[in-house]
Amino acid sequence: MRLRNIKGADTAIGESPYCIKEPASYRGRWQDAFPSPGPLHIEIGMGKGRFLMELASLHPDIRYLGIERYSSVLLRALQKMQADPLPNVKFLCMDAAELALIFSPGEVARIYLNFSDPWPKERHARRRLTSHPFLERYAAVLAADGRLEFKTDNQDLFTFSLDEIAASGWRLVSSTRDLHHDPALSQDNVMTEYEEKFSSLGNPICKLTAVPQHAILSP
Ligand code: SAM
Repeated sequence: MRLRNIKGADTAIGESPYCIKEPASYRGRWQDAFPSPGPLHIEIGMGKGRFLMELASLHPDIRYLGIERYSSVLLRALQKMQADPLPNVKFLCMDAAELALIFSPGEVARIYLNFSDPWPKERHARRRLTSHPFLERYAAVLAADGRLEFKTDNQDLFTFSLDEIAASGWRLVSSTRDLHHDPALSQDNVMTEYEEKFSSLGNPICKLTAVPQHAILSP
């Protein structure tokens, strides 16, 4: 998702109490960024933030950090927060390639990737958020019982992601190529903006959950 540049977006983000400034200063102490304690779940490429904010209202005991690369996109989430603030949500305008600069090992309990850009050209494969270099970055910051959840309607990206998960030594916990017709996996599913759009066109939604090699699987 790339909205046209919106004048004033950077200033609005810089001045907003809902956006984290100097994220590296929170490395190892993200609990200080939120008014109350709780596990930290992040969404990378959160777009306009609908998924994250709905989850946050359902789970006030969890702290949610939405990461989005483009300020013009993040501004939309910010406007929603201003209309309906949630104490357990913060936003960050940043490229996810820099995760290790802002989180210490084990600091993140869950990572959500939703409808990540497919980067269809082979020469851009390393930019895909489920590519091996990104999985390494996630493994470095995930807690021992942490996990990655990924949804997409792009069959090729899903196949690529399953292959990268296996080749990177991650363990697949579950996967489906038709989430909305899977009674077990669709339980408690929260739709994203793109999920709503593409499923209304008849596209099946794929979902996988995976854990890094170092993870301790809960019984
Ligand atoms: N997750 C939302 C949804 O499902 O409705 C938005 C999906 S949109 C296709 C993907 C988003 O990921 C875009 O807003 C894009 O700017 C963001 N994004 C892509 N690569 C990123 C990166 N390396 N770091 C942070 N955000 C990224």
